[in-house]
Amino acid sequence: MLKIQNYINGELIAPLEGNYIDNYNPSKGEVYSQIPNSQTNDVELAVKAGQEAFPAWSKMPKNERSKIMVRLADLIDENLEELARAEAMDNGKPLSLAMRVDIPRASANIRFFATAILHNASQSHHMEEGFTNYTLNHPLGVVGCISPWNLPLYLFTWKIAPAMASGNCVVAKPSEVTPMTAYLFSKLCIEAGVPKGVMNIVHGLGAHAGDAIVSHPKVKAISFTGGTATGKIIGRKAAETFKKTSLELGGKNPNIIFADCDFEAMLNTTLHSSFANQGQICLCGSRIFIEKPIYEKFKTAFIEKLKTHKVGDPFDKSSKMGAMVSKEHLEKVLGYVQLAKEEGGKILFGGNKLTIEGSENGYYMEPTVIEGLDFNCRTNQEEIFGPVVTLTPFETDEEVLEYANSTQYGLAATVWTENLTRAQRISQELESGIVWVNCWLVRDLRTPFGGVKSSGLGREGGFRALEFFTEPKNVCIKY
Ligand code: NAD
Repeated sequence: MLKIQNYINGELIAPLEGNYIDNYNPSKGEVYSQIPNSQTNDVELAVKAGQEAFPAWSKMPKNERSKIMVRLADLIDENLEELARAEAMDNGKPLSLAMRVDIPRASANIRFFATAILHNASQSHHMEEGFTNYTLNHPLGVVGCISPWNLPLYLFTWKIAPAMASGNCVVAKPSEVTPMTAYLFSKLCIEAGVPKGVMNIVHGLGAHAGDAIVSHPKVKAISFTGGTATGKIIGRKAAETFKKTSLELGGKNPNIIFADCDFEAMLNTTLHSSFANQGQICLCGSRIFIEKPIYEKFKTAFIEKLKTHKVGDPFDKSSKMGAMVSKEHLEKVLGYVQLAKEEGGKILFGGNKLTIEGSENGYYMEPTVIEGLDFNCRTNQEEIFGPVVTLTPFETDEEVLEYANSTQYGLAATVWTENLTRAQRISQELESGIVWVNCWLVRDLRTPFGGVKSSGLGREGGFRALEFFTEPKNVCIKY
């Protein structure tokens, strides 16, 4: 059985205490590899390697640093299929999705930040005669990047790319549930000639390896994407050593549909925004609010479409949805379906675990549509993070805004209307870091990405991400 290794100081090495954890293929429900159960001493080694590599990497001319990173992006493109297969195997997502979205986005992340540093000018502020001010942006040193399982290489690279590009050395921990593409990525770092110690990957559990990164006094910043509960723990821990933190957390996103929308476009995109990646994207629209005049029409058309939305083996080209990431997560999501019933919800479609022929032990579930719930019941307030959506009719703009803004979350919202004035007013009033009007998950890497309320702290994307990984220093000179 394949044993994944840590990547520390340019080498693939075993965890110091020699302990491993089983890694599952969720589409078969079988263990297929093992990952290091790294501890504080492994993190210590990685931080030390980062500190030693930092002076040379941070002083390397930007275009050389950029070239190494572009080579890394090229290697991801060259290994697209192998990486996509690993992602599908590890996460359960359809191979077609990994080929089309996850892996191309991983190389785009690296290419974007590798080239952004070439355009990043420092500021100068001229004062009265004889004085001038300028601002330097220093890399921080060793930084920690901790990422989740839902978009493994996509979100891993979204963090490590700006960190490396701005001259930092990285200690990264991918999710213990989906370690495989980060492991393959370490091999690509060696091939691309990333200097040893610049990028370090420590595999293991959040409570051990993750906590050791967050607690380490020499780690200067933590960029974290994951659940809100974990974000709270990390925020508190990081404050003890005054680390900078960027926290990208959970969501319970509203999808607001007005009667005047382009119905066909809305229907197709809503299917996607509800169930892509088995609903395991922090940006999925899990609460669908429909204006009353088209409620019944929407319900009928949506369910009709779902009948052909195939759940199946991730490697089967016709599968629109694959397996849930783990047995525990599947059980959690099914638990929410049960809760919805107890709260008075009516299951319009799905709601059950699925058995797929040839993959009987896999963690599959039907896409699920529920109606008849109050907007402030638990099913409509808590993040489910699965293929479960609720339908709620509304009559006025004020009413739907109250529903949409009622949760503790504020990550992303979608609005469907052909009325530009209404689109603008609703967008303005939504408590959300991102609003998509007549589209969903259209991303420009230059734009700010992140949430408000319990969905996070800070923004990633574009020059903001480079700023996060640097410390400005103002220099004032009298001539
Ligand atoms: P999680 O919080 O359980 O784990 C995320 C990462 O944190 C993993 O690598 C884990 O090992 C690590 N971790 C756990 N406990 C830790 C600790 N005490 N100290 C340090 N590290 C620790 O999240 P998950 O289940 O992997 O991912 C799903 C969650 O991520 C959902 O809530 C989803 O909304 C959120 N998410 C948010 C965004 C966003 O951009 N806002 C994107 C994707 C996913």
